[in-house]
Amino acid sequence: MRILVCGGAGYIGSHMVKLLARQGHEVVTFDNLSTGHSAAVKWGELVHGDLLNPSDLSSLFQGDAFDVVMHFSARSLVGESIQKPALYYQNNVVGTYNLLEAMRNHGVDKFIFSSSAAIFGNPVKERIDEDHPKAPINPYGKTKLMVEQILQDYAASYGTSSVSLRYFNAAGADAERELGEEHDPETHLIPNILKAAYGQQENTLKIFGDDYDTADGTCVRDYIHVEDLCDAHLKAVEYLLAEKRGAEAFNLGNGNGFSVKEVLLSAQEVVGKEIPYQVDDRKPGDPAVLIADSAKARRELGWTSRYTEISDIISTAWAWMNRD
Ligand code: UDP
Repeated sequence: MRILVCGGAGYIGSHMVKLLARQGHEVVTFDNLSTGHSAAVKWGELVHGDLLNPSDLSSLFQGDAFDVVMHFSARSLVGESIQKPALYYQNNVVGTYNLLEAMRNHGVDKFIFSSSAAIFGNPVKERIDEDHPKAPINPYGKTKLMVEQILQDYAASYGTSSVSLRYFNAAGADAERELGEEHDPETHLIPNILKAAYGQQENTLKIFGDDYDTADGTCVRDYIHVEDLCDAHLKAVEYLLAEKRGAEAFNLGNGNGFSVKEVLLSAQEVVGKEIPYQVDDRKPGDPAVLIADSAKARRELGWTSRYTEISDIISTAWAWMNRD
């Protein structure tokens, strides 16, 4: 198939491009390189352009049609979304709308969307399934929910079939060490812990809040390996090709929660040394606990995660950091 990967230069998108290319698909990456890296696009063509520029999109959609569009391009930092909501509504909502319109104008009707656990807000039950109330507590989560709602209307009125995959906490790196997580500035927990493991003063780990209502007071998250997330996208392509109509959504996680301190302990074992930290203020917009119930993805997509141990996920990230 000919597959468009918007955001293929980013962390999850670049792993997806590799997997699609390995499966024999023709892949085109479209990316504005605002947070991604051209060097991460090692397979297929890279088209440099912006979803906010409709003429970039019309050139992109000229020529051979795409069988499927995958959409990873988004601003994805909770804190930044609270400080700069306009940036989030513009990039994540307007940008996606432009992409959906380009698809519609060119007769492309299969779409896989990178959604997020952030659409749920504070959980009202232990594991979050697809029916859990959707009440995002930050602009980032609201943008993802708005797009899911747009996708429902596009499915009903225009026949655009879509799968929204709600990632819990993406982590880890390509097992062959060709790709990994590289954000600047880095905000995510596992890379920050591993940077601190180098012992450089400026990289002292901060734990954002240790007074949450959890067993050790730190936030609990469900970490899912980036390759497992990409595998779910392949399964979602098969699902769409099986003539599934409508706008579907699946929650993707391991179903196990780890607190910030538990992740730190596991990382210390992986790297073989103690990692110093200091406790800082809570981050605004941070729910105490987010754990997925992914039974629907297992049942309907036939998806399972291969990385179920947090130490194995951390090990791939550490191997990537030490690749040279
Ligand atoms: N966190 C932390 N220190 C860091 C980075 C993250 O304490 O340097 C916490 C963060 O507040 C959250 C959890 O670790 O509770 C996971 O954060 P991350 O940014 O990786 O993902 P998020 O859940 O915010 O999408």
